[in-house]
Amino acid sequence: MPEDTPKLAVSIIVPAYNEAENLPILVGEIEQALSAVEDGFEIVIIDDGSTDATAEIIADMQAHRSFVRGVFFDGNYGQSSAFDAGIRRARGRAVVLIDADLQNDPADIPRLVDALGEYDAAVGWRADRRDPWTKRLTSRFANFTRRLATGDRTHDTGCSLKAFRREILRRVKLFHGMHRFLATLVEMEGASVVEVKVNHRPRRFGRSKYSIFNRSLGPTLDLLAVMWMRRRRLRYRLRERG
Ligand code: UDP
Ligand code: MG
Repeated sequence: MPEDTPKLAVSIIVPAYNEAENLPILVGEIEQALSAVEDGFEIVIIDDGSTDATAEIIADMQAHRSFVRGVFFDGNYGQSSAFDAGIRRARGRAVVLIDADLQNDPADIPRLVDALGEYDAAVGWRADRRDPWTKRLTSRFANFTRRLATGDRTHDTGCSLKAFRREILRRVKLFHGMHRFLATLVEMEGASVVEVKVNHRPRRFGRSKYSIFNRSLGPTLDLLAVMWMRRRRLRYRLRERG
């Protein structure tokens, strides 16, 4: 193992905006799912300017559990910013992104991390999605358009549950809203990506932070940016000199 290879096996990054009821359950589920991981894990939870008790709950868990680390924003900056702050702080060889609201199932994490033995990234595919039909329909349309526009074959780009080798994720520069395109962005960095079917659960506590409005126009413009970046990517190669 090279000198600078992290000793910790897995970092779990959790963006949280008003998720007070969900966080203690989530941390318990992650702890259970990862109890067998050699070399240990950490959970980095980012409070994205919550107005409920999220920050206090993170601070309390951080004080009582050595594997929990809190990051506290001074306002609400959005999910991409929260992921970015967590990724910058991650110390694990594998970095796993997961939502705080219990819709993703931590029991899927070991399978995603195992896939990193062979691939640079493993992205979740919510084959049986448990969301209102309006959301499922708009997502289906968005995923279809994205596949058509980018040639990217990933089925479900909106699934937050994803695992990456740390070094490949660190190469990506995130922009607001771009967390949705991480599979494409790491592929542009030369990463091999595999899709893994994951469980999905209905939201029990708290509310969805996205509506049909803030998840249609913005992401469509983001898609144009991704298409542009793919087209304009530098692809030069050197010729052999005799
Ligand atoms: N989130 C965040 N900042 C925001 C909006 C959302 O950190 O401004 C977090 C949120 O707390 C959750 C995740 O991002 O952990 C996904 O949000 P949500 O569950 O509302 O999205 P949906 O599942 O409805 O698409
Ligand atoms: Mg959700």
